[in-house]
Amino acid sequence: MKKYINSRTIFLSSLICIVLLFYSLSYNFFLTNFIHIENIQNEKNIHNLINHFNSNFDSLVNVSNTFKQNGFNIPHIENLNQLGLDFIIYQNSNNKNIFSQHSQNTQSSHTTRFETTLFETYASMPEVRTIFTFEKTLFYVVKTKINKNLNLYVGKVLNHQNLKQLSIDFEQLYIGNQKEPGNVTIKLSSKYIPSILIEVVLSDTQIHNTLLFQDDTSHVLFCVNTINQRQYVNEGKRTIHIVNVIMALFLTIILYVVYKSQVVFRRMLQKDKKALEIKVEQRTKQLEAVVKKVKVSNQQLHELAYTDFLTKIQNRRSFFMKTSELLNEAKIKQQSVCICMIDIDNFKKINDEYGHDIGDKVLIAFASVVSNELSGQEIFGRLGGEEFALVFPNTLLKDALTKIEHLRQLIENIIIKIDTKTKLTFTASFGVSDNSISHNIDKILHSADELLYTAKHSGKNSIRSRFSNSEK
Ligand code: GH3
Ligand code: MG
Ligand code: MG
Repeated sequence: MKKYINSRTIFLSSLICIVLLFYSLSYNFFLTNFIHIENIQNEKNIHNLINHFNSNFDSLVNVSNTFKQNGFNIPHIENLNQLGLDFIIYQNSNNKNIFSQHSQNTQSSHTTRFETTLFETYASMPEVRTIFTFEKTLFYVVKTKINKNLNLYVGKVLNHQNLKQLSIDFEQLYIGNQKEPGNVTIKLSSKYIPSILIEVVLSDTQIHNTLLFQDDTSHVLFCVNTINQRQYVNEGKRTIHIVNVIMALFLTIILYVVYKSQVVFRRMLQKDKKALEIKVEQRTKQLEAVVKKVKVSNQQLHELAYTDFLTKIQNRRSFFMKTSELLNEAKIKQQSVCICMIDIDNFKKINDEYGHDIGDKVLIAFASVVSNELSGQEIFGRLGGEEFALVFPNTLLKDALTKIEHLRQLIENIIIKIDTKTKLTFTASFGVSDNSISHNIDKILHSADELLYTAKHSGKNSIRSRFSNSEK
């Protein structure tokens, strides 16, 4: 449960982080794009404005060229406004006005001063296409040399209203006072104005352009300020928020579904794991049982292979293996090993008289009595029928003979009950040899067997060895 809560907390915090990260990245990405679009649009607007200036100049230049073709024939102009002019002035080579006509915009008590200033300003220049400032009023001025004695000035007032007509791309547009270029963002030049320095200032909601028009001597002709709302960015921000909220919701749902399916998958895995563990446990138990059975079987097989089935002592094969090993060891350690062959006397007669079962009983009793007397170091085996062999490791012949004599006595005292009245006793004969004659098991056994044969022929129930005094 705790693990589940932890993983849910981790999931929730990761989800919040991912969504916030996504939100912020996508917000910045889209906003940057909107700002870029806004800048492009703003530059377009500026170009449009400059193009309008140019077309105004173009119309003045066209009018001027038309008049130039007329030469000194000063035309009669009924309405200057129809020609898009506010003034037309013919000037002779002495800088004197020989003809002038002004619209209401320039016709005032200052007309003479206006003309004098205009002549003085552009006296040295034969051709002029520029903006002229007189008493805070701006004029397009085009000066054309008609011939060496005649100059023509045509012009048009550039006031706020005219400016407004120039560009419909800006919400506010006015003649500014700035004379020094600020932080110039864009630098342009147009057909008639050699240098236009533009400063773009972005506030939170508005975009401000300051256009500084300069002549070829970097003298400021005039300055125009424009203001537009940051429509793209402001509306864009709203759109970004809406899109982002939808995307964030979508992302949350996707992540939640992924998380849930992962939780379900993990639970399924855990279930499978548990089932698998139970199965493994069951199989392990089954295997353990099988291993146990195999061990038991092995034990049984071992017993069958190495134990005599009737007397439960070593069988012939086991006896030979162990004794050979012991003899080899004794050879290295130079220890004395005694081997005693034992044969139950008149066993056939017992079988014949009392039956095979009783014969078996005799064999079992014999083996049991001898086994009980052994220390555990000796090797006691049944070589076949009623023939046995007993090996005494690290034992001198005389000591072995003492022990064998004791065994002989025990054997002759064994009583087998046939029935309530009948009891059976039996004896055995012994032939004892040792590894002083050879380290080969067969040779020692053969020697012991020969001594046993001697014992049988000496009246049985006796012990024979290479010591003469061992006779009973
Ligand atoms: P001796 O005193 O000279 O040793 O004579 P013996 O009768 O003991 O020897 P013999 O070799 O003539 O007889 C051995 C008998 O042992 C023959 C066989 O039927 C019997 N015998 C062999 N194995 C078994 C057995 O496992 N159980 C029984 N009951 N008898 C066996
Ligand atoms: Mg025999
Ligand atoms: Mg016998």
